[in-house]
Amino acid sequence: MKIVDVRVHPVAVSRQYATLTSGGQEGRQNPDAAPVDLSYFYILEVETDSGIVGIGEISDIDPGMRLVDGSPMDLTNVTGKLRSQLVGRSPTDLERMSLEVDQGGLVNCAIDTACYDILGKAYGASATALAGGHLRKSVWVSWVAYIREPEAMVPEIEEKLAQGFDAFKFKVGRDIDMDEARIKLFREIGGYDLNLKLDANAAWDVDEAISYMRRLEKYNLTGIETPIDKNDVAGMAQVRQAIDTPILEHVSTQDYALDLVRHEAVDVFNVSTVGCGGIYRAKKVIAIAEAAGLHALLGSTVELGVGTAAQLALAASSWRIDWPSDLIGPLMYTDDVLNEPWEWDNGYLRVPEGPGLGVSLDPQKLQSLHHALPTAR
Ligand SMILES: [Mg+2]
Repeated sequence: MKIVDVRVHPVAVSRQYATLTSGGQEGRQNPDAAPVDLSYFYILEVETDSGIVGIGEISDIDPGMRLVDGSPMDLTNVTGKLRSQLVGRSPTDLERMSLEVDQGGLVNCAIDTACYDILGKAYGASATALAGGHLRKSVWVSWVAYIREPEAMVPEIEEKLAQGFDAFKFKVGRDIDMDEARIKLFREIGGYDLNLKLDANAAWDVDEAISYMRRLEKYNLTGIETPIDKNDVAGMAQVRQAIDTPILEHVSTQDYALDLVRHEAVDVFNVSTVGCGGIYRAKKVIAIAEAAGLHALLGSTVELGVGTAAQLALAASSWRIDWPSDLIGPLMYTDDVLNEPWEWDNGYLRVPEGPGLGVSLDPQKLQSLHHALPTAR
């Protein structure tokens, strides 16, 4: 079986509210970081000579983003690159593609997702089955609450508690007083037993991370993600030594995973299809967490339906994903491109069981959500 064509559909979908993070970089918050209210996606259809078409998703594209060769993410360029790299290949060649195709995590992930979808449809198996089998029928999700005034957050928290969520992640790192006020209010509403982790998105330096976390630890926090610049692995180890809260970090490559393990810098790997470049590559990173005796969860760039289906296949087939994952896309976006509705049960997202990803594109949605990626500023 060979790939014969790739089609790319640009779409845009609004978020439930304009989401804000610390926008942190290299241990400093970015006061100019803008809230995100509309997200852009490229939905892929990868056609094979057997007639089977697999789907993939380049998730939540920042218009300023570039491909690894520095060329723009515009539709013509991306479609051309995908065709030149994929046409003539077999979708079974996942290891070869992991060596020869590198267009960055988001694009690699879309390719990998489409290949798993094709292979599943060809063999009459789910992507989860191909990735290791259905260890779980649904995946534990932590609701991600972005930075806004404490009172503005209350209806969001009350709604998610009513839906049965028992795990949450708070974006923090713009203002420590406001962060503490939000966490305190959350504990007053939901009590101290709920699973609550923080994500500072690299807004702090080592000293700030230690003093802020010592200040916040009385709220029984489950973890702190990216407290400082992720490239400062020694600094992260220093923070870990100084505080009691487990440290989580995004891990996209095996090299970085080994670096974290060698420095004893983290407790939990945050792994994702979009970060690593698909299910196949992500499995190799999760295996390092497993070998090192660390925990793991699925992070997210906030995927739409196709991307979420790929993440679920990874989570459902990987026993080491034992912490709540950030798969909030199906509830954060106001619309989707799929025919199938998502099923939630008390904060757990049901894993599709049909062949391939177990989800399919609604052509009318592709049309109604059609939206070109804006030109970068
Ligand atoms: Mg994060």
